[in-house]
Amino acid sequence: MLVVAKFGGSSVANSTQFKKVKEIVLSNDLENYRNAVVVSALGKKEKGDSKITDLLYLLHAHLKYNVPYDNIYEMIKTRFNKVKEDLELNIDLEKEFAELEKSLSKDIKEDYLVSRGEYITSKMMAEYLGYGFVDAADVIKFNYDGTINYELTYDLIEKSYIEQGKIVIPGFYGAYPNGTIKTFSRGGSDITGAIVAAALKASFYENWTDVSGILMTDPKIIKDAKTIKEITYAELRELSYMGASVLHEHTVFPVQRAHIPIKILNTNRPLDLGTIITEDCNDFSQIITGIAGKKLFTSFTITKKQEVNKLLVIKSALDVFSRFNINVEHIPSSIDSFSVVVPSSDVANNLYDVVTALKNNPDIQEVHIDDDIALIAVVGRNMVDKPGISGRIFGIVGNNNINIKMIAQGSHELNIIVGVSNKDFEKTIKVIYDNLIK
Ligand code: ASP
Repeated sequence: MLVVAKFGGSSVANSTQFKKVKEIVLSNDLENYRNAVVVSALGKKEKGDSKITDLLYLLHAHLKYNVPYDNIYEMIKTRFNKVKEDLELNIDLEKEFAELEKSLSKDIKEDYLVSRGEYITSKMMAEYLGYGFVDAADVIKFNYDGTINYELTYDLIEKSYIEQGKIVIPGFYGAYPNGTIKTFSRGGSDITGAIVAAALKASFYENWTDVSGILMTDPKIIKDAKTIKEITYAELRELSYMGASVLHEHTVFPVQRAHIPIKILNTNRPLDLGTIITEDCNDFSQIITGIAGKKLFTSFTITKKQEVNKLLVIKSALDVFSRFNINVEHIPSSIDSFSVVVPSSDVANNLYDVVTALKNNPDIQEVHIDDDIALIAVVGRNMVDKPGISGRIFGIVGNNNINIKMIAQGSHELNIIVGVSNKDFEKTIKVIYDNLIK
């Protein structure tokens, strides 16, 4: 069975990490073949390391503003040269750099420049593994509107795999029809890995990183947070949306559509089980899969006049938020009022203009603002049909003297969201974790 393995920046940060990758890739057992490998650019492993991608963005800024850039460029070259020397690779880096230098000018395209991190790292990895190198520009194809041309992309990836047998593809970028390089947003090598896995109908998409899977909550709040063994794509989406940073948000779609499970694994501890992300999970041992949250929200509680139609008032209020380009996160409601919860940063400069616009609707009686809200989402597929879970959560939070300002529950019962004061954010996560998970 074919496995697509993607290695993140910290997994390829230096020659020691390259060796770990080789050991993992070549440790194919009888059933799994890691024949397609996707890599990020050299990242951070030791204190003081910089990510090559960060340096390339910095290099671009220097070029653009005509600031001397020799130091940064030297740092980039030195990182690559060191890996080459340590691993005794034959790759002609001088030639690669000479090619790049041809376009090192004020007008260099940012996407092209930053993509060189993945490009060179992958060439080195391909040689080191004895795999063929496939340039992402030749197989990951964008349309001019920035969307991916999946049909063509899948076809091209499959063809290069059939031709070359075992391949390394750089993550993070592809090309428009005219060949111009386009990158994904930061962290986008995850997406490349997912696309390659879907194109090759892999049995698994392995995402190798520097943690042994997804934690049930933020380790900055719960030091020894447990690892999630199994999670569904839908739960992961909820957790990521609420702030858990795991995979690039656009990663899941191609593999989910092709029913390919994702494994999150640790390059530094390859025997750890990690986390598996699938459509359906068989693990019923935990009611709660994970807890995530975000601070700094503002809620507008809008009370309408009793006799008027609530839907029309909600519609007119939402029109106001949309006109001001404000992201609406939640709309919990009761008979005569509803709250619109938005990121505080979205209303930092126009709060009173928004209130004035809302109050222009004569059907609105009052607008009350609370600018001190943190949202915490408790996510779990096993909460469905289990009465009393929300009651328990509210009880735990209340018993710990935390004031709940807002409650929202997704209709598919995958998540329960509570809004508390920003200062209670960490404490709320801690008491829910301690009582319902630990
Ligand atoms: N190297 C790119 C970044 O740092 C892409 C990636 O690593 O996924 O964002």
